[in-house]
Amino acid sequence: MPELPEMENYKILLNQKIAGQTITEVQINREKSINLNPVLFIKTCHHQKIIDINRRGKHLLFHLQNGQTLLLHLMLGGWIYYGTEADKPKRTVRKKLYQSIKTILQKGIQHGGYMDNPLFKDDKLTGGFNALYQVYHREGEKCNRCGSIIKMEKISSRKTFYCPICQT
Ligand SMILES: [Zn+2]
Repeated sequence: MPELPEMENYKILLNQKIAGQTITEVQINREKSINLNPVLFIKTCHHQKIIDINRRGKHLLFHLQNGQTLLLHLMLGGWIYYGTEADKPKRTVRKKLYQSIKTILQKGIQHGGYMDNPLFKDDKLTGGFNALYQVYHREGEKCNRCGSIIKMEKISSRKTFYCPICQT
């Protein structure tokens, strides 16, 4: 289930992608997913400009030009995608990627994250995740999984570390 960090991420991305744009078509794939009469729903959303997108808890709120708000909850397996059906990653790939991100985030939180500024004097937790890096900041060292040498590349001026065998 998408959690708070995911929803926050969607909020930021959706604001970049669709805020200020007008809804030109409304398609309802599952009537059960909306809590309004479909005709009324379409009438309310169609041709409306999306002013901005906010998040409240795990809900996304799309504020429309007519003062109405579209409230979105992704439920259990709910997953949104921006783009065409053709460039959408295959479901299994998405699921795997999502699970991996989730596991890593949880590990990161558990071990205090990567920012190594202690929060208080004997804070041993903050930054503890640094010692557990599998690839990040390990350029030239061996991959723990396959033994290949970790590479570093700059992608849009940000350093990206990866194992050429396991991650390509
Ligand atoms: Zn590897």
